[in-house]
Amino acid sequence: MAVIPIRLFPDPILKQKSKRVRIIDGSIQKLISDMFETIHSVPGRVGLAAPQIGIPLRVIVIGLPEEEDIAIINPEIVRRRGERLIDEGCLSLPGYFGQVKRAESVTVKGRDQNGKEIRIKADGLMAQALEHEIDHINGKLYLDHLESMDKLYKIEPEETQL
Ligand SMILES: [Zn+2]
Repeated sequence: MAVIPIRLFPDPILKQKSKRVRIIDGSIQKLISDMFETIHSVPGRVGLAAPQIGIPLRVIVIGLPEEEDIAIINPEIVRRRGERLIDEGCLSLPGYFGQVKRAESVTVKGRDQNGKEIRIKADGLMAQALEHEIDHINGKLYLDHLESMDKLYKIEPEETQL
């Protein structure tokens, strides 16, 4: 396992659409364990998408405090419910927060690290993290949801980042 440096805005990999994973093998399992090690190496990191560490594949991980770690391969949002305005930060844009519109709850399907089909229904921070990380594999940043760049504001570095 290894902690990998996080790609920062405006690295072009963050604007790229990531490729679907075709075969879930040891290299994908290694990628997932590196992603978990990378988020758990610094407090406040709760989610990560593979392109943020330079790998343009559709793999995301979520590691919320006091909850089980979740890795999803080829995740897709199959349902969005409700709408809310919420503050959001990104590990690829450290030191900033912006207010974005997110769903209140989402249902996501995909596969786990063993290739088993999974379906997750989530609300709260988990729903926000899922939408944020799935945006990453589609080459989107939360900046793309802001009305304008002056909606960004500076935060303390230890705040939750996705
Ligand atoms: Zn992010």
